[in-house]
Amino acid sequence: MSIRVRFAPSPTGPLHIGGIRTALYNYLFAKQNKGRLILRIEDTDQNRIVENAESYIEDALSWCGLVPDESPSKPGNFGPYRQSERKHVYQDHIEKLVKEGKAYYAFDTPEELSKIREDYEIRKETFKYGAENRMTLNNSLNLPEETVKKLVNESPYVVRLRVDKGKTIKVKDRVRGYIEINSGEVDDKILIKADGMPTYHFANVIDDHLMKITHVIRGEEWLPSLAVHQLIYDAFDWIAPEFMHLPLILKPQGKGKLSKRDGEKLGFPVFPLAWEGSEGFKEKGFLPEALMNYLAFLGWNPGTNEEIFNMDKLLSVFDTEKIQKGGAKFDFEKAKWFNHKFLESTDQKIIFEHFPEFLECLPVSWSQKKRNAVYSVLKDRLFLLEDLKSLSLIFLEDPSEYDSKVLSKIQKNNPKKIVAQFCKMAKEEVSIKDWKSKIHKWNKNEKLPFGVIMQSLRLAIIGNLKGPDIFDVCEILGNQVTLRRLEKFYHHQN
Ligand code: GLU
Repeated sequence: MSIRVRFAPSPTGPLHIGGIRTALYNYLFAKQNKGRLILRIEDTDQNRIVENAESYIEDALSWCGLVPDESPSKPGNFGPYRQSERKHVYQDHIEKLVKEGKAYYAFDTPEELSKIREDYEIRKETFKYGAENRMTLNNSLNLPEETVKKLVNESPYVVRLRVDKGKTIKVKDRVRGYIEINSGEVDDKILIKADGMPTYHFANVIDDHLMKITHVIRGEEWLPSLAVHQLIYDAFDWIAPEFMHLPLILKPQGKGKLSKRDGEKLGFPVFPLAWEGSEGFKEKGFLPEALMNYLAFLGWNPGTNEEIFNMDKLLSVFDTEKIQKGGAKFDFEKAKWFNHKFLESTDQKIIFEHFPEFLECLPVSWSQKKRNAVYSVLKDRLFLLEDLKSLSLIFLEDPSEYDSKVLSKIQKNNPKKIVAQFCKMAKEEVSIKDWKSKIHKWNKNEKLPFGVIMQSLRLAIIGNLKGPDIFDVCEILGNQVTLRRLEKFYHHQN
């Protein structure tokens, strides 16, 4: 049997990284098993559809490298891939269930139901449309056939699943094992809504079956739906696929699920791509593979200390048996660390070719050689590609001030005199490559701590103690600019 999995988002907004993690696990499992990943758009809740969300989903998956094998834009043999275009399919299937008495029409109006609910509340009970009361309500199970026929043609109705009480629903989740639910706890779920559209439960099961899905890998928030889904499979006498419910992605601090708000509050993205003014991981300068590596670890780990896995390696080590039950805390600093590792090992040519928007901070008036050199000395300091903008400022602007704390600390060693020595070398056009050995020689008499010599030079060139190797910086700046900065510092000191 060939493996078929699906990612089934509702286009109610942009994909959250939790959704991307689900898509990633599906993708890895499909590819490992030479199977297929299907993208199905679950758009039956017409009121919640958000414009552009569907195209956002496809774009985001494609940026992440999780391209589905079948989708609305790349239909295979199991389409349509948008649920809103499959109404006829659900209609055929519901008729079958109604005929067999496994589902029924319910004509109760929302007003009638809320009145009943209130009555129950007064008695301190909770109303649940089901075995206990369905024969007293307004539905096809207790109305004469003629009336039902008439009502179906004349008034709005929903179709409900008939859930028998006193049964044990046994479901299996590959992450959590067997779970048993008493059918008495489940109400007669609506399968078809008054607008003729199926509910999530009904459409989801029908489509998973018809699309020959073998494994359902989805977020833990869907685990409570599993019993209902099992009942629908049973009603059709279908064998359910295998299920894996992935642990929640939790807030960095405190309890609960990671939300868009947490991102806004703590200043990190939660979407792969920008959405309505909020930057995504892409705009921050994440490499998609680094993000995938990080997300893979939110709910799984290989059981070794190894952490860096590109897509190929992930494909070889990922193992659904090692998916964890417990929620995984989102940690933006850790995500950045993964990105840093990938940036360190990614050929600079690839960065220039694929992420040109981040290289705009290196003026085109510079030679390509200079742009390459700047990237190369800053590369090890990048956690996000957007860091390049602030880090490269040292090559664009002479320092406007000097770190006063450092200055006062080294004052006793006369930084002015040290810098004068560098000025001398610059004026004599001594190659910057030789500065280090020459300054060592000069220091034989001076006997200054070498650290202070370097700090003086660094202050003069960039104004503080941060940044890459200072001789590398001087070489990129060139003799003229270096001399200008040295002299500026020299004159600044009294
Ligand atoms: N449409 C559901 C969602 O938005 C799909 C859940 C499932 O995978 O069954 O996540």
